[in-house]
Amino acid sequence: MKLLEDRILRDGQFLPGNVLKVDSFLNHQIDVAFICELGKEFARLFKDSGVTKILTIEASGIGIACLTAQYFNVPVVFAKKSKTTNIFGDVYTAKVESYTHGTTSQIIVSSRFLQPEDRVLIIDDFLANGQALNGLIEVVESAGATVVGAGIVIEKAFQPGGDLIRSRGIRVESLARIAKMDGANIEFVQD
Ligand code: 5GP
Repeated sequence: MKLLEDRILRDGQFLPGNVLKVDSFLNHQIDVAFICELGKEFARLFKDSGVTKILTIEASGIGIACLTAQYFNVPVVFAKKSKTTNIFGDVYTAKVESYTHGTTSQIIVSSRFLQPEDRVLIIDDFLANGQALNGLIEVVESAGATVVGAGIVIEKAFQPGGDLIRSRGIRVESLARIAKMDGANIEFVQD
Protein backbone atom coordinates (compact mmCIF):
# COMPACT_ATOMS: atom_id res chain seq x y z
CA MET A 1 0.00 0.00 0.00
CA LYS A 2 1.71 3.09 -1.33
CA LEU A 3 0.26 5.42 1.31
CA LEU A 4 1.76 3.29 4.08
CA GLU A 5 5.11 2.78 2.37
CA ASP A 6 5.48 6.54 1.94
CA ARG A 7 4.63 7.12 5.60
CA ILE A 8 7.17 4.52 6.74
CA LEU A 9 9.85 6.14 4.58
CA ARG A 10 8.95 9.56 5.96
CA ASP A 11 8.50 8.78 9.66
CA GLY A 12 10.00 5.35 10.35
CA GLN A 13 13.19 5.06 12.34
CA PHE A 14 15.51 2.09 12.24
CA LEU A 15 16.66 0.74 15.62
CA PRO A 16 19.29 -1.92 16.40
CA GLY A 17 17.94 -5.50 16.41
CA ASN A 18 15.97 -5.03 13.17
CA VAL A 19 13.34 -2.97 14.94
CA LEU A 20 11.43 -0.36 12.97
CA LYS A 21 10.03 2.44 15.11
CA VAL A 22 6.77 3.87 13.80
CA ASP A 23 5.46 5.21 17.06
CA SER A 24 4.66 8.66 15.68
CA PHE A 25 1.64 7.30 13.77
CA LEU A 26 0.99 3.60 14.49
CA ASN A 27 1.71 2.30 17.95
CA HIS A 28 2.25 5.07 20.47
CA GLN A 29 0.83 8.26 18.99
CA ILE A 30 -1.96 7.13 16.66
CA ASP A 31 -2.88 8.98 13.48
CA VAL A 32 -6.54 8.00 13.53
CA ALA A 33 -7.47 9.19 10.03
CA PHE A 34 -4.46 7.39 8.61
CA ILE A 35 -5.15 4.12 10.47
CA CYS A 36 -8.77 4.30 9.23
CA GLU A 37 -7.37 4.14 5.68
CA LEU A 38 -5.50 0.96 6.66
CA GLY A 39 -8.72 -0.40 8.18
CA LYS A 40 -10.59 0.28 4.92
CA GLU A 41 -7.94 -1.65 3.03
CA PHE A 42 -8.27 -4.65 5.38
CA ALA A 43 -12.04 -4.44 4.91
CA ARG A 44 -11.61 -4.48 1.11
CA LEU A 45 -9.21 -7.45 1.25
CA PHE A 46 -11.38 -9.57 3.58
CA LYS A 47 -14.85 -8.38 2.49
CA ASP A 48 -15.89 -11.84 1.27
CA SER A 49 -14.56 -13.78 4.26
CA GLY A 50 -17.64 -13.59 6.45
CA VAL A 51 -15.69 -12.07 9.37
CA THR A 52 -17.65 -12.18 12.65
CA LYS A 53 -14.87 -11.09 15.03
CA ILE A 54 -11.51 -9.37 15.00
CA LEU A 55 -8.81 -10.67 17.33
CA THR A 56 -5.63 -8.86 18.28
CA ILE A 57 -3.09 -8.70 21.10
CA GLU A 58 -2.56 -5.92 23.62
CA ALA A 59 -1.41 -3.24 23.48
CA SER A 60 -0.35 -2.03 20.04
CA GLY A 61 -2.90 -4.04 18.08
CA ILE A 62 -5.97 -2.67 19.86
CA GLY A 63 -6.25 0.73 18.18
CA ILE A 64 -5.66 -0.72 14.72
CA ALA A 65 -8.16 -3.52 15.32
CA CYS A 66 -10.86 -1.11 16.55
CA LEU A 67 -10.43 1.27 13.64
CA THR A 68 -10.61 -1.72 11.28
CA ALA A 69 -13.65 -3.26 13.01
CA GLN A 70 -15.86 -0.25 12.26
CA TYR A 71 -15.76 -1.25 8.55
CA PHE A 72 -16.79 -4.83 9.33
CA ASN A 73 -19.25 -3.88 12.07
CA VAL A 74 -17.99 -6.70 14.30
CA PRO A 75 -16.56 -6.75 17.85
CA VAL A 76 -12.88 -6.67 18.68
CA VAL A 77 -11.40 -9.12 21.17
CA PHE A 78 -7.88 -8.57 22.39
CA ALA A 79 -5.68 -11.19 23.97
CA LYS A 80 -4.33 -10.09 27.34
CA LYS A 81 -0.73 -10.68 28.24
CA SER A 82 -0.36 -12.24 31.62
CA LYS A 83 2.79 -12.59 33.64
CA THR A 84 1.38 -15.46 35.65
CA THR A 85 1.72 -19.06 34.57
CA ASN A 86 -1.49 -20.07 36.37
CA ILE A 87 -4.14 -21.52 34.13
CA PHE A 88 -7.59 -20.18 34.92
CA GLY A 89 -10.90 -21.80 34.06
CA ASP A 90 -12.84 -20.74 30.97
CA VAL A 91 -9.94 -19.19 29.13
CA TYR A 92 -7.88 -20.04 26.07
CA THR A 93 -4.16 -19.50 26.44
CA ALA A 94 -0.97 -19.66 24.37
CA LYS A 95 2.66 -18.84 25.00
CA VAL A 96 4.14 -15.92 23.07
CA GLU A 97 7.71 -14.69 23.03
CA SER A 98 7.86 -10.92 22.60
CA TYR A 99 10.03 -9.74 19.72
CA THR A 100 10.63 -6.28 21.11
CA HIS A 101 10.85 -7.10 24.83
CA GLY A 102 12.54 -10.51 24.65
CA THR A 103 10.19 -11.89 27.30
CA THR A 104 7.76 -14.81 27.17
CA SER A 105 4.21 -14.27 28.25
CA GLN A 106 1.05 -16.24 28.32
CA ILE A 107 -1.74 -14.69 26.30
CA ILE A 108 -5.26 -15.17 27.55
CA VAL A 109 -8.69 -14.83 25.96
CA SER A 110 -11.90 -15.55 27.84
CA SER A 111 -13.81 -18.43 26.28
CA ARG A 112 -16.95 -16.26 26.44
CA PHE A 113 -15.70 -14.17 23.53
CA LEU A 114 -14.79 -16.84 20.98
CA GLN A 115 -17.36 -19.35 19.77
CA PRO A 116 -16.90 -22.32 17.41
CA GLU A 117 -19.03 -20.57 14.77
CA ASP A 118 -16.84 -17.44 14.76
CA ARG A 119 -14.88 -16.51 11.64
CA VAL A 120 -11.94 -14.58 13.00
CA LEU A 121 -9.73 -12.00 11.33
CA ILE A 122 -6.50 -11.50 13.27
CA ILE A 123 -5.00 -8.01 13.15
CA ASP A 124 -1.56 -6.91 14.34
CA ASP A 125 0.88 -4.08 13.79
CA PHE A 126 3.99 -6.12 12.88
CA LEU A 127 4.90 -9.60 11.68
CA ALA A 128 8.50 -10.63 12.37
CA ASN A 129 9.14 -14.19 13.56
CA GLY A 130 5.45 -15.01 13.76
CA GLN A 131 5.28 -15.69 17.50
CA ALA A 132 2.40 -13.31 18.23
CA LEU A 133 0.38 -14.48 15.23
CA ASN A 134 1.06 -18.09 16.05
CA GLY A 135 -0.23 -17.63 19.61
CA LEU A 136 -3.37 -15.90 18.37
CA ILE A 137 -4.03 -18.67 15.83
CA GLU A 138 -3.61 -21.23 18.63
CA VAL A 139 -6.21 -19.41 20.72
CA VAL A 140 -8.74 -19.38 17.83
CA GLU A 141 -8.11 -23.06 17.15
CA SER A 142 -8.60 -23.89 20.85
CA ALA A 143 -12.03 -22.28 20.62
CA GLY A 144 -12.86 -24.42 17.57
CA ALA A 145 -13.38 -21.19 15.58
CA THR A 146 -12.06 -20.46 12.07
CA VAL A 147 -9.14 -18.17 11.23
CA VAL A 148 -10.12 -16.46 7.97
CA GLY A 149 -6.76 -14.75 7.79
CA ALA A 150 -4.39 -12.22 9.28
CA GLY A 151 -4.19 -8.54 8.44
CA ILE A 152 -0.76 -7.16 9.25
CA VAL A 153 0.23 -3.53 8.92
CA ILE A 154 3.99 -4.08 8.48
CA GLU A 155 5.59 -7.41 7.65
CA LYS A 156 9.36 -7.64 7.90
CA ALA A 157 9.56 -10.13 5.04
CA PHE A 158 13.26 -10.79 5.64
CA GLN A 159 12.25 -12.50 8.91
CA PRO A 160 10.64 -15.96 8.84
CA GLY A 161 7.15 -15.39 10.33
CA GLY A 162 5.25 -14.63 7.12
CA ASP A 163 6.53 -17.69 5.24
CA LEU A 164 5.95 -19.94 8.25
CA ILE A 165 2.34 -18.91 8.73
CA ARG A 166 1.51 -18.91 5.00
CA SER A 167 3.02 -22.39 4.64
CA ARG A 168 0.34 -23.58 7.07
CA GLY A 169 -2.30 -22.45 4.56
CA ILE A 170 -3.30 -19.33 6.46
CA ARG A 171 -4.00 -16.21 4.42
CA VAL A 172 -1.73 -13.36 5.49
CA GLU A 173 -2.28 -9.90 3.99
CA SER A 174 0.38 -7.36 4.86
CA LEU A 175 -0.11 -3.75 3.82
CA ALA A 176 3.64 -3.09 3.63
CA ARG A 177 6.29 -5.79 3.24
CA ILE A 178 9.84 -4.78 4.02
CA ALA A 179 12.43 -6.71 2.04
CA LYS A 180 15.45 -5.14 3.62
CA MET A 181 16.30 -2.44 6.12
CA ASP A 182 19.65 -1.15 7.18
CA GLY A 183 20.66 2.20 8.59
CA ALA A 184 19.03 4.86 6.46
CA ASN A 185 17.60 2.48 3.84
CA ILE A 186 14.30 0.65 3.76
CA GLU A 187 13.37 -1.43 0.71
CA PHE A 188 9.91 -2.87 0.14
CA VAL A 189 8.99 -6.15 -1.53
CA GLN A 190 7.88 -5.34 -5.10
CA ASP A 191 4.62 -7.11 -6.00
P1 5GP B 1 6.67 -11.66 16.01
O1 5GP B 1 5.86 -12.25 17.11
O2 5GP B 1 6.10 -11.86 14.64
O3 5GP B 1 8.13 -12.04 16.08
O4 5GP B 1 6.68 -10.08 16.24
C1 5GP B 1 5.48 -9.36 16.16
C2 5GP B 1 5.24 -8.56 17.40
O5 5GP B 1 6.44 -7.96 17.88
C3 5GP B 1 4.27 -7.44 17.09
O6 5GP B 1 3.11 -7.65 17.87
C4 5GP B 1 4.98 -6.16 17.45
O7 5GP B 1 4.38 -5.57 18.57
C5 5GP B 1 6.41 -6.54 17.78
N1 5GP B 1 7.38 -6.17 16.72
C6 5GP B 1 8.09 -7.01 15.93
N2 5GP B 1 8.92 -6.34 15.14
C7 5GP B 1 8.75 -5.03 15.41
C8 5GP B 1 9.36 -3.82 14.90
O8 5GP B 1 10.24 -3.82 14.03
N3 5GP B 1 8.90 -2.66 15.42
C9 5GP B 1 7.93 -2.62 16.38
N4 5GP B 1 7.56 -1.41 16.82
N5 5GP B 1 7.36 -3.73 16.90
C10 5GP B 1 7.76 -4.92 16.41
